[in-house]
Amino acid sequence: MSSEKRRLIAGNWKMNGSLQEANEFMDAFGGNPAPDLVEVALMPPFTLLHPMSDRLASMGVVLGAQNVYNEDKGAFTGSICPMMLRDANCHYVIIGHSERRSIIGESNAKIRSKMNASWLHGLEPILCIGETLEQREKGITNSVLAEQLSILKGAPKEMPLTVAYEPVWAIGTGVTASAEQVTETHAFVHEELTRLGHDCRVLYGGSVNPGNAEELMSCPGVEGALVGGASLKADSFMEIVKATVKVVS
Ligand code: PEP
Repeated sequence: MSSEKRRLIAGNWKMNGSLQEANEFMDAFGGNPAPDLVEVALMPPFTLLHPMSDRLASMGVVLGAQNVYNEDKGAFTGSICPMMLRDANCHYVIIGHSERRSIIGESNAKIRSKMNASWLHGLEPILCIGETLEQREKGITNSVLAEQLSILKGAPKEMPLTVAYEPVWAIGTGVTASAEQVTETHAFVHEELTRLGHDCRVLYGGSVNPGNAEELMSCPGVEGALVGGASLKADSFMEIVKATVKVVS
């Protein structure tokens, strides 16, 4: 396990945010308070990438996208390719979020090909994995996660990668995994990644908020958070960042 990696707090705005709301957020957020200790990233919708890019960079906040298409260019109406994300100064791209797996039906094969396309253009995928409540109750959490991680077989080890463990039952529900569940599952994810030859950061995601951030970010093997709802408001996102700074200070 690699507790010395710089923590990452990444905000996933999902399908939320007008230009006005984005400007209000940036006015209120102010900037990354401790860039040496914690990296802060924001993933607004595609329409806000260019308008937010320069200002976020000046605040020490790294830009990311929520999705990408697995081709370089061409007749793929409605899709956004990795080069377009690089053009907007994105460093990160979320791939395999549970909402895309369940609502859009994204397969592991599609997810791997999006990762390959992203790597070709220098993007760092944040690969999301996680089990449903039914799978947890059946006791098959580890095998579900191992299968989702198995797409990394044969992936170049030197490519940048972050993994986010997000139990599906904790996303947007207000229910968080307990510290024990988080610690135990992160240990398994790190073990599996080591077996596959990848030594990357593993984030926790699922209803992280200012009230639980310190406890969750203190769990062994947790190297940051992917934050949905609580990243939409500058003050709650900042509180999560500060709680993380406190944990690593
Ligand atoms: C997410 O969108 O990845 C997420 C974890 O959302 P929330 O924090 O709202 O549960």
